[in-house]
Amino acid sequence: MALIVQKFGGTSVGTIERIQQVADKVKKFRENGDDIVVVVSAMSGETNRLIDLAKQASDGNPEPRELDMMVSTGEQVTIALLAMALINRGVPAVSYTGNQVRILTDSAFNKARILQIDDEKIRADLNAGRVVVVAGFQGVDEQGNITTLGRGGSDTTGVALAAALKADECQIYTDVDGVYTTDPRVVAQARRLEKITFEEMLEMASLGSKVLQIRSVEFAGKYNVPLRVLHSFQEGLGTLITLDDEESMEQPIISGIAFNRDEAKLTIRGVPDTPGVAFKILGPVSGANIEVDMIVQNVSHDNTTDFTFTVHRNDYQKALDVLKQTAEAIGAREVSGDTNIAKVSIVGVGMRSHAGVASRMFEALAKENINIQMISTSEIKISVVIEEKYLELAVRALHTAFELDAPARQGE
Ligand code: ASP
Ligand code: MG
Repeated sequence: MALIVQKFGGTSVGTIERIQQVADKVKKFRENGDDIVVVVSAMSGETNRLIDLAKQASDGNPEPRELDMMVSTGEQVTIALLAMALINRGVPAVSYTGNQVRILTDSAFNKARILQIDDEKIRADLNAGRVVVVAGFQGVDEQGNITTLGRGGSDTTGVALAAALKADECQIYTDVDGVYTTDPRVVAQARRLEKITFEEMLEMASLGSKVLQIRSVEFAGKYNVPLRVLHSFQEGLGTLITLDDEESMEQPIISGIAFNRDEAKLTIRGVPDTPGVAFKILGPVSGANIEVDMIVQNVSHDNTTDFTFTVHRNDYQKALDVLKQTAEAIGAREVSGDTNIAKVSIVGVGMRSHAGVASRMFEALAKENINIQMISTSEIKISVVIEEKYLELAVRALHTAFELDAPARQGE
């Protein structure tokens, strides 16, 4: 008998019919003898609707505490509906808000962090044979104020509960059947991964493969909670996200290819190359609250150097203005920028034990005549910046080069 935490997202509880289907599914697990804690999101679209109302009532600027007071109601509706549907099927069930469980958080309204979870009440209910349905996305601070965990926060509620209860698995049910080697809309041969490590998932997620809230993956890694991403209404094993197990012999070198089009590139040329120059350039950028991703400084010629970095595209204009001011102040020759770039990354823990991964990547891009503008590497990731119009070609070429393509199906 296992203890499983199951989290169902907004589309999975988006209508009464779907809530009925979720109840059927939970019932089946229960009949197998497993103890089940269910975490649900609000019905799809509901959180947006509530935020919109709040904006209307406040000239677009709702008081953070009051916003949490209101948006937390979306989940309060779905926990009650699911508990009713379960009870209606003869499955004893009880619903709790975050406050009732006591999911204690800090007081950072709209983006609170979980500090502690009381597991007593839940354990008592499980022992009494009840399914426990908990509202995702919300908690309560020391003063008793209702807080929420940031958009997509129900994933984190699920993982945090699984950690607190030492559950055997945290299952995240959603509208995709797992984590893929890359976006199937870009590469038709993309495959569902059976397994991926926390570290790899974090790299994939932060690079734009948005299946899970990033914080929930960090949390799961920290407390070693096995996480499984599954389709709510299709059969299948989904993708298991777990610790790196070095035992596994058939570990692929690369697990997936992530990409994003959200960045822009800025270059400052002819910078007098003196100690502290990187700080002089990037200090004002971070001072303007702009996050920098990749950074490249060229080898200097005649005591001047070039410096290139990337920022989120939304911050491009602001960063360009800051950089122009800096250029004047330090006597650099010129500043330029480019928003037509994309970042492509190959991710895999197998890189640690294999040489030649980077050159294989560069070879695949060279064969397609794709120019690499910037490169950065970490222990389990290699990223390149290329011209945006080659993005899809690059992802497809790399997917093939690293043998990630699914075998062609019959008749295709
Ligand atoms: N309902 C919240 C949101 O839409 C939390 C969640 O769904 O995870 O962001
Ligand atoms: Mg979600």
